[in-house]
Amino acid sequence: MPGPARVRYAPSPTGEPHVGNIRTALFNWLYARHTGGQFILRIEDTDQNRIVPGALDSILESLRWLGLDWDEGPEVGGPYGPYFQSQRLHIYREIADRLLSQDSVYSCYCSPERLDEMRKEQQRRKEPPKYDGQCRYLSEAEKKRGVGDGVNPVVRFKTPLEGHTSFYDLIRGEITVANSTLDDFVLLKSDGFPTYHLANVIDDHLMEITHIMRADEWLASTPRHMLLYRALGFEPPVMVHLPLILGPDRAKLSKRHGATSLVEYKENGFLPEVMINFLALLGWSFDEKTEIFSVDELIEHFALERIGKTGAIFNHEKLLWMNGLYMRERLTVHDLMGRVLPFLEQGLPPEVPRPFDGAYVEDIMALLQDRIKLLSEGPELTEFFFMDDLEYETPTLLGKDFDRERAEGILSLVQARLSDIEDFSTEALEGMTRRMAEELGLKTGSFFGLLRVAFTGRTAAPPLFETMEALGKERCLYRIERSIRKLHDG
Ligand code: GLU
Repeated sequence: MPGPARVRYAPSPTGEPHVGNIRTALFNWLYARHTGGQFILRIEDTDQNRIVPGALDSILESLRWLGLDWDEGPEVGGPYGPYFQSQRLHIYREIADRLLSQDSVYSCYCSPERLDEMRKEQQRRKEPPKYDGQCRYLSEAEKKRGVGDGVNPVVRFKTPLEGHTSFYDLIRGEITVANSTLDDFVLLKSDGFPTYHLANVIDDHLMEITHIMRADEWLASTPRHMLLYRALGFEPPVMVHLPLILGPDRAKLSKRHGATSLVEYKENGFLPEVMINFLALLGWSFDEKTEIFSVDELIEHFALERIGKTGAIFNHEKLLWMNGLYMRERLTVHDLMGRVLPFLEQGLPPEVPRPFDGAYVEDIMALLQDRIKLLSEGPELTEFFFMDDLEYETPTLLGKDFDRERAEGILSLVQARLSDIEDFSTEALEGMTRRMAEELGLKTGSFFGLLRVAFTGRTAAPPLFETMEALGKERCLYRIERSIRKLHDG
């Protein structure tokens, strides 16, 4: 059993977190819980231009919805705070000063125009973009001139010009890059804010992070981070870069594959425990065949050794299947009702009186449990239970086997029988209706079809007799009366 880990989820509040971000959060959380360690939430908000209002709330809401509670971070605080990087600027500056005094960094006075020109020239020559190092070699006099011109310099790292940087990634193994491919990257921007590289490395060290688990796309930054760790004399944490999440076409998952923001999944009616189960399997597996895991099981089994290398396919069909399965097999009717209610509240027409009758909704849920795949289907699937004045066309009611007169006759007889019976249970209703079919020489298919439209306004609905029982005698009589009148009045 690995020792208690300190791991972090370090989102930038630049938009709604998408499923890939949350997969990262989940893996970190699972590992913290598995090892009895801490899960830290750190907000990387140093790129002031990219901050999106409301993004922080979406991040917190997404984590809360899934139950990924953080031991340290916004709202809960903790001994390594503050947990917003924008509140730690003094720390970064102090450490940048240290780097300056040990000659590991230099001030760069290049104007944005010059950098832009340089980038374009590199593009023309089909070279990777890279700072050319001009300010690395400024004389004291030139530096003074830069300061005199009122340019706010950036601070760049002196990347070794030769040699290699290597590190070990738990998933990818040994990785080595030639230092000549890395440029003198910026540590402090001209507004005095640190870049991601500087703040990330300093915070992971100061917050005593033991494992960095993050998406594969950050792998390219890691050699720079390693150089920084070394220059600062810090021991780097264990590196764990998680495999990419791909769409079914094997391209990196993006908007064009459908919903990607976690909040959308919530709004679309997925259960949080399903999202956890599903996301856990994007890049991690227990035995390559078990698919259904409770949160506790995931915590128990989660192991870094079982994180894969290859991209994980986000299969929306599988997610839907899993959601349906959880609703059918893992929720009690009562629980299902609690989850669907907010959707009914939102989605049922305003003329349906609120609050809903709890016992009635629970009966309806029992009927729906086998068919509902998304909580958001609730209003559409149940509307007819609540709307007594159903809207349907006469031809729909008649189907292909009846004319008006015949249908009216049959429905009137049903009305009479229904008002007479005491026992309004599924069995009694089925017995009565089947006897009538025989008596009247009707094919049950057409007869039940007629009744289904009269009671529900639809040709497809949950099983007829269960539906009638749930509706109850009074509603059934009202509906049948309306259908007779509809036929009669034309
Ligand atoms: N702020 C980065 C992000 O938004 C964090 C990357 C990392 O975990 O190092 O994903």
